[in-house]
Amino acid sequence: MIADLLIAKVALDVPQIGQNDGFDYLIRDAAHPAQPAFAPPLPGSWVQVPWGKSQRVGLVVALAATSALEQQRLRAITHVLIDAPTPDPAWIKLLRFVADYYHRSLGEVALPAIPKLLRQVAPANSKKPRPSIFARSRQRYEARDRGGDRELTQHRAQALLPTQAQTRVLSQLPAAARFGVHLLHGVTGSGKTELYLQWIALRLGLRNDHQALLLVPEINLTPQLLERVQASFPALRIAVLHSDVPDAQRAADWLAAAEGRAQIVIGTRLGVMAPLPKLTAIVIDEEQDPSYKQQEGVRYSARDVAIARAKMLDIPVLLASATPSFESWHAATRKRYRLLQINERATGASLPLVRIIATRDKKLRHALSDAAIDAINAVLARNGQVLVFINRRGYSPVLSCAACNWTSACENCSAHRVLHRVSDVGIAVARHRYRLICHHCGADSAVPRACPTCGNVDLQPLGRGSQRLEEGLAQLFPAARIARLDRDVARHRGAARKVLAATHAGDVDILVGTQMLAKGHDFDGLSLVVVVDPDSALFAADFRAPERLFATLMQVAGRAGRASHQAARSEVIVQTRYPDHPLFESLRRHDYEGFANSQLREREQAGLPPFVHQALLRAEAKKVSVALDWLRAAKALAAEHSNDTDRAANGAVTLFDPVPLALVRVADVERAQLLLESRSRTALHQFLKRWLPLLRATKPAVPSLRWQLEVDPLEI
Ligand code: ADP
Ligand code: ZN
Ligand code: ZN
Repeated sequence: MIADLLIAKVALDVPQIGQNDGFDYLIRDAAHPAQPAFAPPLPGSWVQVPWGKSQRVGLVVALAATSALEQQRLRAITHVLIDAPTPDPAWIKLLRFVADYYHRSLGEVALPAIPKLLRQVAPANSKKPRPSIFARSRQRYEARDRGGDRELTQHRAQALLPTQAQTRVLSQLPAAARFGVHLLHGVTGSGKTELYLQWIALRLGLRNDHQALLLVPEINLTPQLLERVQASFPALRIAVLHSDVPDAQRAADWLAAAEGRAQIVIGTRLGVMAPLPKLTAIVIDEEQDPSYKQQEGVRYSARDVAIARAKMLDIPVLLASATPSFESWHAATRKRYRLLQINERATGASLPLVRIIATRDKKLRHALSDAAIDAINAVLARNGQVLVFINRRGYSPVLSCAACNWTSACENCSAHRVLHRVSDVGIAVARHRYRLICHHCGADSAVPRACPTCGNVDLQPLGRGSQRLEEGLAQLFPAARIARLDRDVARHRGAARKVLAATHAGDVDILVGTQMLAKGHDFDGLSLVVVVDPDSALFAADFRAPERLFATLMQVAGRAGRASHQAARSEVIVQTRYPDHPLFESLRRHDYEGFANSQLREREQAGLPPFVHQALLRAEAKKVSVALDWLRAAKALAAEHSNDTDRAANGAVTLFDPVPLALVRVADVERAQLLLESRSRTALHQFLKRWLPLLRATKPAVPSLRWQLEVDPLEI
């Protein structure tokens, strides 16, 4: 062994058994061991290293004098990316925390947090030396005029005079840098956005050496919010981080955030993973939104990571919502979070009147009750706007044959293909205007001319989605200008913007849409919201379904009557077959607290989160029996290796029996899961730390078997 052997531990986007501290590489050039190739890179440096036959970009996370591997097997770092951002120890610490908490390797957390363009391996022997991707990205950001050099005194050009309630809350928010979680619970339109922008202004002070991170759930909300932020902070520089930004711009903005050149960073969940060397405040808008949960790779919760990050940096974090997640609400009632509330709208407008309409045994026309039709007519008569909300896209969820009960099942999934009208401009051949599309695997097929089983030509769509609802509305209200907004519309570039702009301009009378319409939008003329068929979520197996439905309905309802000048009181009509369900009673009274508290009591009795902590082990294989067998073996392994500490803790961690997922097959893969539960978060994580390396070290009998662990799962 050479005495001064120097090893860099390099994090790569590769799973690792056991410890999370990266792969060993020599800092010396392997070909010329006597010559130091370069000075030892500091932890946090970006490097390029050989991996198998290719090269990869990684991060140095530590230096070491020795390696567990033999020296001959060690390879050398190819080069250090000297143009990359300066190492930021706080960022490495954050990544380490996330890797640890979600039980993944540091590299699996770190590398996906970096935009693709910046972690691309440079082409081997390019003829002309080109400026590095880092240099180009910096230039790109600087070239864009975001007014960074303008007078800082213009800082808050567009600030509104805060309302009394806003002033009260602002005075309760800390101006000094200390960790604390503040839950801002304010009704829709209470001026939460305005308020947190003012708080950010306070936190940043009149300086540009601080950074604030603003997380938002939806990509389609960023342009609107971006305009508002820009108007509020004309002198500050902004970076936008979300997956829909084109690669080059994403790299430019990320680098500006990572190097502290951007003061305000607006991002979706992935924004929380960016290095932010001057971070002094974090705001999470709509903190209850499920899209804060990453659903592939490392399944982190951006909200939870943000709170952990704030704690590490000893800075405040502000969660804002009209319907906080029950986890956050629970923490606030236990005084772990500081609760700040606003119960009235900033404009003085009153909250809409909520009417629950029973639809059982009632005759509906195109899914609408007489009450809803009358209300829509009344609003149209006074040139108001109506929003009709349905939580399902497409034309009809199932196509069926009444003669033999054939249904449009997906070949690859245990689900139905959804009938979609694929072209909004009529194509001559009627058959081509519709397709059967699976919402799970994406496969699509032609609509059969006749029933594939019995030949019946009279196939019927069952139920309705947004497209069919739109069609029905056109028949009921032939004079009205109708527009639709859902993910199918939004897929076309600029289409969502166009619909929203037309609605704002008053060129739309009835707006039909899904979830996408529920959030953030502020339509002045909107005075009626009709909710069609929210019932499927009432009895869903997932214990969080009522929480989610309630939040969605509160949000959609909150779109109505936001402007103060509307003469008539705005209204929300919810059509349901279960008008007596307590959820609707709470909704009618705008009683978030009552609903949250009663649901939390039920969860406490049933032993559900937030009163217990969970993790899910999922396995997938060609056949669900294989996945189940593997999970059973995993459970047996836990029992075999349980030690005295486990037994002393007396089953602190419960492993349930493996079960198939409700939607067992997706894209020809069958899935099963094993739920783990504990009252103690620490016990759960200690258990996982011992168990997971055992699982990783075991080769599954069937090589195609895949498995992953999810900590704090949102869907069970
Ligand atoms: P929220 O985020 O709670 O839904 P917003 O911040 O979007 O609320 O405010 C709702 C509406 O009230 C917006 O039209 C906003 O311009 C207006 N508003 C907010 N604060 C004030 C204020 N202090 N004075 C006047 N109008 C305000
Ligand atoms: Zn048939
Ligand atoms: Zn499918």
